[in-house]
Amino acid sequence: MSLLNECRHCRAALSAEETPDRLCGECCFFAVDYRRYDALRDEGYMQYQAKLMCGLIDPPDPDDE
Ligand SMILES: [Zn+2]
Repeated sequence: MSLLNECRHCRAALSAEETPDRLCGECCFFAVDYRRYDALRDEGYMQYQAKLMCGLIDPPDPDDE
């Protein structure tokens, strides 16, 4: 059995024991946000919408034409 061990944020390769949150050392800062993101996804939010709500991606700037 091989698990895909890569950081869910930046896709860096992870060692199996590195983090239960599947985030690398640089992205473990986002662990709380990703837990919130997972909860929103469970509630049925779209991936993009959930990431926006958690601040994981920047919203589009309405003034940026
Ligand atoms: Zn990362």
